[in-house]
Amino acid sequence: MQHTKYLILGAGISGLAFAYEQRSDDYLILEKETVPGGLCRSFYAPGFVWDVAGHFFHFHSDQTKAFVKQMLDGVELCNVTKCAKVFYADRYLNAPFQYNIHQLPHDEFMQCLTDLYFANGLDDAPSFKSFVRQKFGAGISDKFLIPYNEKLYACDLDELERDSMGKFLPKLTFDMLMTFYHGQKGTTYNDFFLYPRQGTMQLVNSYLNHLDTSRIHLGESVSAIDTDAKTVTTSQGTYSYDHLVSTIPLNRFIDFAHCGDSSLLHSNKIVVLNLGFDLPSRDKEVNWVYFPGDEIFYRVGFYNNIAPRPNLSLYVEIGCRSDEQVDIDRLIRQTLVDLKRVRITDDHQLVSHHAIVVEPAYVHITGQSKAETQRVIDAMRQRDVHMVGRYARWEYSAIDDSIEQAQQLAQTLSPTSR
Ligand SMILES: Cc1cc2nc3c(=O)[nH]c(=O)nc-3n(C[C@H](O)[C@H](O)[C@H](O)COP(=O)(O)OP(=O)(O)OC[C@H]3O[C@@H](n4cnc5c(N)ncnc54)[C@H](O)[C@@H]3O)c2cc1C
Repeated sequence: MQHTKYLILGAGISGLAFAYEQRSDDYLILEKETVPGGLCRSFYAPGFVWDVAGHFFHFHSDQTKAFVKQMLDGVELCNVTKCAKVFYADRYLNAPFQYNIHQLPHDEFMQCLTDLYFANGLDDAPSFKSFVRQKFGAGISDKFLIPYNEKLYACDLDELERDSMGKFLPKLTFDMLMTFYHGQKGTTYNDFFLYPRQGTMQLVNSYLNHLDTSRIHLGESVSAIDTDAKTVTTSQGTYSYDHLVSTIPLNRFIDFAHCGDSSLLHSNKIVVLNLGFDLPSRDKEVNWVYFPGDEIFYRVGFYNNIAPRPNLSLYVEIGCRSDEQVDIDRLIRQTLVDLKRVRITDDHQLVSHHAIVVEPAYVHITGQSKAETQRVIDAMRQRDVHMVGRYARWEYSAIDDSIEQAQQLAQTLSPTSR
């Protein structure tokens, strides 16, 4: 049986970042796919570069930003000032919706404003749905926040914890509303972002350049974990470890290690359609659009306006329940109809496409999932098992969080880490 000091489950950005940070040569990464990168992979077709939906680099810390820029030294980067819209009642408004309600028809603006004024603003809401009503009022909630997020999460928002979206839900104050009303720009977490011209995979490749790729076993799916014996079994064999670092979804980990109740962890799944067309984009500025209405998609992004390309190149995100049967051909047909309806396409012909199902995509954070997640993470830490990344920690987080979690864990486990 092969023994390793650091056994890492998953070669997404979290697993690669930890392997890079821990610095020793004594590590092994087990990855079920035949390509590393997880959700940060890119896909290439003639004339088009696509990701698993847009994967852009925005940062909460200047230190992490400087680190990523250094990792991407020599890679062509697009520096983008965000332009996002909402398609509401057949018109395009600026996003976030809650900051731009003055762009609604006058009576709807007044309704949102009045409801916001009388929203009770308390902090005792039992669910995400009641939380947004409490904070933003019924107008903003019922016109955008609730229908949009129900399409995305594919569940009743009463099932989710009040703080499900955490830092990703732009907070609203009257000062902020006035700033936007007067045409000035306020701030949200991703007003500016970086994007490698050849796709997010460039960051994955930068990590791979620093790693010994013979220590990354691709196409090797983990199927059992024994935290007493400190072993992991895959489709190819059994490995023993000193420290186990898991980046695979927590519900799967729980089943493999028999260490909790995975039925308490729910999520949606999403279908991402990457679509390439034969004509240029009608819109030359917008980066992505949110759709709270009856269109099949909840968000459409324009690669061609982020890393300029001659022709329209879109990612389309469709939220589904985890138990839903997915018929990709039907989704593409309906998407093409709806893209025309919302005036993103007119005479455009689809010349290239690619579909990915992501599961889990957005985890459903509930009281029970939070308690079980915390219990498992704490219990596993006592056994030298550590969770890194959005799905291993069953949370709503981003690439910069993965990198920071990997850095912190490496510093804790290995005093000689970077
Ligand atoms: C639609 C969408 C858009 C997003 N956009 C952004 C964005 O713009 N910016 C941003 O910063 N973040 C974004 N994110 C979040 C970002 O994708 C994640 O935070 C990050 O990629 C998580 O990386 P990870 O390595 O933890 O997980 P993953 O990328 O999921 O990697 C886990 C790896 O484990 C492997 N694995 C799973 N099971 C097994 C098994 N049994 N055996 C072996 N290997 C296994 C998987 O194949 C995968 O490679 C987005 C997420 C989604 C869903």
